[in-house]
Amino acid sequence: MAEGKYDKYFLRDSPWKEFKFIMGPIIQRMDSKTIEGSNFYFIHWVLPHSGPRMKVGHPSHIHSEAELLIHIGTNPDDPDDLGAEVELYMGPELERHVITQTTVVFIPPNFIHAPWNPLKTVRPWIFIEINQGLRHTEKFYPQLLTKEHRAQLDWNFWHDDAMSEGYTNMIKPEGWKFDGRGHG
Ligand SMILES: [Zn+2]
Repeated sequence: MAEGKYDKYFLRDSPWKEFKFIMGPIIQRMDSKTIEGSNFYFIHWVLPHSGPRMKVGHPSHIHSEAELLIHIGTNPDDPDDLGAEVELYMGPELERHVITQTTVVFIPPNFIHAPWNPLKTVRPWIFIEINQGLRHTEKFYPQLLTKEHRAQLDWNFWHDDAMSEGYTNMIKPEGWKFDGRGHG
């Protein structure tokens, strides 16, 4: 096919495709640095697993902007069937929800949510995280977790990212490789 003027808008390649991600292949991870004017998107497969791949899950946090957590099942006979069980805690009370159907979860700005953790997956499904801002922001709330859970998490990986002024971000560890790109 001849090169088109608008080829740059077709994002087939991503350096993240090479990244060995715990849940499955990354389709795209992008923000306004990837392409001008884009909000933050993180899109990946979740491949079958019989037990949780993460010990605690993605720990409790907030974002400066609203977020969408989109869980899309791939059962052609029943598109509502996620083919998985995904645990998601909501609010400072950590109200527990288990997602088993194709579901879009709306997270208002500054609303505490997670841990998020796929408990098991019997059929591959697609996860799309949208932060409605030009870049990813995140502030963690380790104080909401039990001491045992806190001790099991790698806080060099789960780290505050680019929250707007007025928030006290955790001090970034030396050589934090996810700086400026977030970690989904
Ligand atoms: Zn989030």
